[in-house]
Amino acid sequence: MKHETFNKVMDEIIYHKPRVVVLYHGGEPFLNPNLLNMIRTVKDAKVPKTKLNTNGMLVDDLRGIVKSGLDFIVFSIDGRTPHENNDIRTGSNYAKVRNTIQNLVRIKKEMECDHPHITIVNVQMPTKVELETPTHNAPDFLLRDFKGLDVELKMNRAIYWAGLDLKHSGFFLNDSTKTNNHCATSTETITIRWNGDVVPCCLDIQNWCVMGNIFEHRLEEIWRNDNYNRLRESLFNMEFLPLCENCHFVRVGRYLMQTNGANIRTTPSDHNQSNDW
Ligand code: SF4
Repeated sequence: MKHETFNKVMDEIIYHKPRVVVLYHGGEPFLNPNLLNMIRTVKDAKVPKTKLNTNGMLVDDLRGIVKSGLDFIVFSIDGRTPHENNDIRTGSNYAKVRNTIQNLVRIKKEMECDHPHITIVNVQMPTKVELETPTHNAPDFLLRDFKGLDVELKMNRAIYWAGLDLKHSGFFLNDSTKTNNHCATSTETITIRWNGDVVPCCLDIQNWCVMGNIFEHRLEEIWRNDNYNRLRESLFNMEFLPLCENCHFVRVGRYLMQTNGANIRTTPSDHNQSNDW
């Protein structure tokens, strides 16, 4: 996001006193060389909480992150083994991300700061049998490497993102039994993209439903415009737009599943892990 767009976003949102600003939408926030300045600007504007998600591969200035005042940092580490993580997350290196998180914990201690709160989100693609298992445990490699550290481990099932082509992928969507006619994101949050486009939620990473653009209209006008009304009406009437059709907020319990032998590639050394991945 360009500086000009960020300033415009701040001008628009600050008036509405947001409780949380998440500096992330689908991409990698640490690609932005101004990220820490942006966090400081949001904190200086007295926004209570700031948060971001990262793949952890470009998180270098750990003291700078603590000093910026960032409240929550979420690292994405997926799969059941380091190999599976590196395979699913192209370009990721589990050992590097693990070291970064462990160092951040140490630096927070040295600086006597309790922020940012560190979470690791681990997404797994369940088989049908596993989906019926009520508990979803953290994988052994995360339990081992973050044992005793001030790091929260959060497990998620893989969800469908609008635009995913499942044909020949080895993945499918399970049937969900309950349908909702409301999603809180359409009434409580707002997502502004890098170019000022406003989309309904963080799941719209391909601009399927652009509600408006903050360079053309004020945020409050967009929030009440016909596009937003149509979206909320479609949700209420359960006549879902393509963006929402397979969303787990309205198709409760709908997850991305893998058929036996789907294209998660693993190697025999998955079963013989060392600490050096
Ligand atoms: S139901 Fe639609 S608007 Fe709501 S979170 Fe899902 S995709 Fe977004």
